[in-house]
Amino acid sequence: MADDFYDFTDELTRIGQQGLYRRRRLTDGPQQVQLVVDGRRLLNFSSNDYLGLANHPQVKAAFRNAVDHYGVGSGSAHLICGHSRAHHALEEELAVFTGRDRALLFSTGYMANLGIIAGLLGRGDDVLQDRLNHASLLDGGLLSAARLQRYRHADMEDLQQRLSVVKGRKLIASDGVFSMDGDLAPLPALSALAKQCQAGLLVDDAHGFGVLGAHGGGIVEHFGLRQADVPILMGTLGKAFGTFGAFVAGPEQLIEMLIQRARSYVFTTALPAAVAEASRVSLRLLQTGSWRREKLQSLIAQFRQGAVQQGLQLMDSFTAIQPIVIGDNRLAMQSGQALLDRGFLVSAIRPPTVPAGTARLRITLSAEHQPAQIDALLEALGRVRL
Ligand SMILES: *Cc1c(COP(=O)(O)O)cnc(C)c1O
Repeated sequence: MADDFYDFTDELTRIGQQGLYRRRRLTDGPQQVQLVVDGRRLLNFSSNDYLGLANHPQVKAAFRNAVDHYGVGSGSAHLICGHSRAHHALEEELAVFTGRDRALLFSTGYMANLGIIAGLLGRGDDVLQDRLNHASLLDGGLLSAARLQRYRHADMEDLQQRLSVVKGRKLIASDGVFSMDGDLAPLPALSALAKQCQAGLLVDDAHGFGVLGAHGGGIVEHFGLRQADVPILMGTLGKAFGTFGAFVAGPEQLIEMLIQRARSYVFTTALPAAVAEASRVSLRLLQTGSWRREKLQSLIAQFRQGAVQQGLQLMDSFTAIQPIVIGDNRLAMQSGQALLDRGFLVSAIRPPTVPAGTARLRITLSAEHQPAQIDALLEALGRVRL
């Protein structure tokens, strides 16, 4: 029966029984600390808009003006007629910002990672990934048909051992700031190991840009690593930049190769030029607004100090991502719901986003939060009793 194909009752029931059912919430108004969710005003501790740029007046004005100039849709892929002066200027500014030869825009971070890995590797090659890497890096590895190995989280011994038996071309891929834990990759050691073993190195710093480094240059600025140390540097524009899209920055030939071979670059519509213009303004605000990073750091310190006083189990993170591990899927969901009932939006994260048995509340902080709001969250966490 053809009908059977569309009968998902068993599968959906099974997902529910495991406490893994996913539902969307309906938001109204701009992405900000005070967020209207399902008609209720909540304090938002779940956004990746770490610097509060998603609703910044100058970013919005740039977007509006650019819509007047460029219209909305970009009309085609970059290689047909969709590569506007706005896209090009943003790429040049991102290259300067990252201290790399060139930068290349992708329509999303997910597509950038698919395109980079599958564009550079093929059958017979090896890709070595940190076990906690973002799904888009793992999926890029699968798509490439390279052998996929996952080394223990941040474990350079395990990685070195695996590298020592790989003969052919090999790429190491790692999150810079780990998206669900908030900790940093041991980047100086990773870089040294990649050089020693003549492996490529791809770092996805979706959560480091804007937050780490004196000028928001992310994990590479934090550690003072240059293009020769981290040759393939990827970032997204939908998090601290507050807009949408992604980029990869690196050597001239790498960028040329990706333009030829990254299928998720070649075969997709360019993001709207107005988004690129808005991102140019947010890049400027992100670089020059050190006060946002300083305020964020002081809120992070306040949160961690308060959480420790309450005996909450924190992770080894000094970034905007401050998870509290609960373990059980349903318990994590119940804690999230209890916070919601008190007016706080905190996401409960379950497998497969995180390893089984490590479901957690993923609390994210923003430079737009006020110290009193952090105190209110801490008080609510105390009452919910995790
Ligand atoms: C969000 C994220 C991505 C995907 O970026 P999008 O632009 O949202 O597709 C990739 N890598 C990491 C580490 C991320 O957190």
